[in-house]
Amino acid sequence: MSEMGLVVVGAAGRMGQALIRAIHATDGARVAGAIERPGSPHLGKDAGELAGVGSIGAAISDDPLPVFAKADGVLDFSAPAASVEFAGYAAQARIVHVIGTTGCTQADDAKIAAAARHATIVKSGNMSLGVNLLAVLVEQAARALDAADFDIEILEMHHKHKVDAPSGTALLLGQAAAAGRGIPLAGNDVRVRDGNTGPRKAGSIGFATLRGGSVVGDHTVILAGAGERITLSHHAEDRSLFASGAVKAALWARGRKPGLYSMRDVLGLG
Ligand code: NAP
Repeated sequence: MSEMGLVVVGAAGRMGQALIRAIHATDGARVAGAIERPGSPHLGKDAGELAGVGSIGAAISDDPLPVFAKADGVLDFSAPAASVEFAGYAAQARIVHVIGTTGCTQADDAKIAAAARHATIVKSGNMSLGVNLLAVLVEQAARALDAADFDIEILEMHHKHKVDAPSGTALLLGQAAAAGRGIPLAGNDVRVRDGNTGPRKAGSIGFATLRGGSVVGDHTVILAGAGERITLSHHAEDRSLFASGAVKAALWARGRKPGLYSMRDVLGLG
């Protein structure tokens, strides 16, 4: 099969640049285009030069449609409104769309699911093997340890530039815990605590958020019982692992029928 031509949207961002480097380093994939928003100071620059791999002949553009029309897939770690818009374009072009953007609302997710009728979409709050394996372990632990005896709390820390909270990964782990308990996360999640909160509600899943410095992503799931505590943790040291996971997802999705897939599907974690 020919090399998979991949467009990076948000190509000047932290993840965008990591994606350009990951595609550049992957046999069987090439950068087919790079997109930033209208008015971006990076328009016209070579995406490879910006990402530190030298010129790759892909000038950053603000016009996605003609670029998508010539590509096999899109890698998208941008912003919720942008990812919804790009999912529509990917559906028109009937190509692969890998979405790592976090902070999407239920309405955003519904629009992305609608686009997945025509686009092959892989969406995940975390593209790393380690976190997706952690999610499987969390689901097992939550299933094995009864809600009456063990309280589940999820702690995360990220760099000071992150704009959404809790992180997409914390929510992914919360979903896994809820699935293990056989309950929906919505309605059982406690995302902030402040003031006189009263005692902890049995069966709830709590979140705590830390922000600061340059932390790429730390997550810990704590199962707290009477007299004992189990902690399951993941520490991301370099965002290149999310980028290489996204490229892997795109190569996996190529040729698959339209639909909404997760990183667990890509990694065969069931
Ligand atoms: P970032 O550095 O701010 O990069 C986002 C890029 O997208 C920026 O260059 C931004 O441009 C651009 N963008 C926003 N709206 C756009 C639009 N309409 N058209 C074109 N480009 C647009 O942020 P980041 O740290 O790379 O993170 C990006 C997203 O990925 C976040 O949601 C983050 O939580 C998520 N993330 C996910 C994973 C995962 O494994 N799933 C891992 C890491 C990060 P402006 O600066 O002009 O707004």
